[in-house]
Amino acid sequence: MPNKKDIKIVGAGPAGLVAAIDLNRAGYNVIVYDKQDSVGGEPAWHPSVHSTPVSKRLFDYIGIDCREAFAESTQCFKAFVFGEQVDVNPYQETGLFNTERGHRPTSLDNVLYRTAVREGVNFEFRSPWKEDDFRKAPKGTIIATGLSAGVYEWLEIPCSVFAGYWAYSEIEKDYISTAGYFGSYSNEYGYAGSMNGIWYVLLFARKEIPAQNLEDFKQELQRLEGRSFDRWRRFSGLTPKGPRLYHKDFILTGTFGGFVEPAYGFGITGSLLSGKISAMAVYDPQRAEEEFHTYTDGIITHIARKRQPGYAPSALMGDVWFDVR
Ligand SMILES: Cc1cc2nc3c(=O)[nH]c(=O)nc-3n(C[C@H](O)[C@H](O)[C@H](O)COP(=O)(O)OP(=O)(O)OC[C@H]3O[C@@H](n4cnc5c(N)ncnc54)[C@H](O)[C@@H]3O)c2cc1C
Repeated sequence: MPNKKDIKIVGAGPAGLVAAIDLNRAGYNVIVYDKQDSVGGEPAWHPSVHSTPVSKRLFDYIGIDCREAFAESTQCFKAFVFGEQVDVNPYQETGLFNTERGHRPTSLDNVLYRTAVREGVNFEFRSPWKEDDFRKAPKGTIIATGLSAGVYEWLEIPCSVFAGYWAYSEIEKDYISTAGYFGSYSNEYGYAGSMNGIWYVLLFARKEIPAQNLEDFKQELQRLEGRSFDRWRRFSGLTPKGPRLYHKDFILTGTFGGFVEPAYGFGITGSLLSGKISAMAVYDPQRAEEEFHTYTDGIITHIARKRQPGYAPSALMGDVWFDVR
């Protein structure tokens, strides 16, 4: 019989790391498995700069002060709709912050990892979980595997494609910026964010994007930000069709638990928040259920709005989808 206080977590992204730190503090013996050689997630699209609304209340809620991994844009948030700058800052209350993802020491992943190691969480890297490992996993194993395709299939979770193009170039270390772009280049939106010497550009797309649209967006960035990059790279993965806390005998968290805001793909806030909620599901399931519903109602509403005819991502600008109360 396994010790009832042993907990396995699959995936060492922000959601898995927050869950691990929290459960370790609650007296559980935690082991985190990841398929990569170290923390930092998918090397195919990191290192990267992600923008996300975070607040002190969020850090208080998760009980982990990882503020050092976040930088507020020194340029205030800018949004361009068809090339025209619009006067909107929907993130005045929460603040819109940038954070680095990936394997470099300055990343959010490494900030959380250092806390986890310092506090005694165990890790097994180069451990890619396959279908059989999930079949044999103990009840209550936490799954935090993000966009990884195989896991959705093995666990039979309905999902959609999350895809687009990214590009980057090196910039001055102290330049921190965030801008959102809405235009005819894609049926989703684009953004450019920078910190720690990286200017990272993304163009989300639900459909394949013609090469000319990619070139048009690149020209728009050159015109509006005066910066460029060498080439576009494609990324794709899967996200569940809606949020879930439990599936079969597993506890789900982060992207895999559907904690990604549907209009803009903000998932950093969701991964931190849901990491805490998934840990709660181990030691206080009733409260976890309540918190899960509190924070996923907004996601469910936004998914419904996104499915309405005539939906355009810029239409939802100004809606802060959830905030830690
Ligand atoms: C290109 C891109 C840009 C984004 N931009 C933004 C942004 O600007 N703002 C924002 O808020 N969000 C953004 N997001 C979303 C955000 O990155 C995610 O929501 C967040 O990373 C979710 O964290 P997570 O811990 O759930 O999963 P991840 O960070 O994806 O971590 C999953 C971990 O699981 C591991 N893993 C996967 N499968 C297995 C397996 N079978 N066995 C063992 N380990 C496994 C992986 O190696 C990885 O370390 C973006 C996502 C992408 C892909």
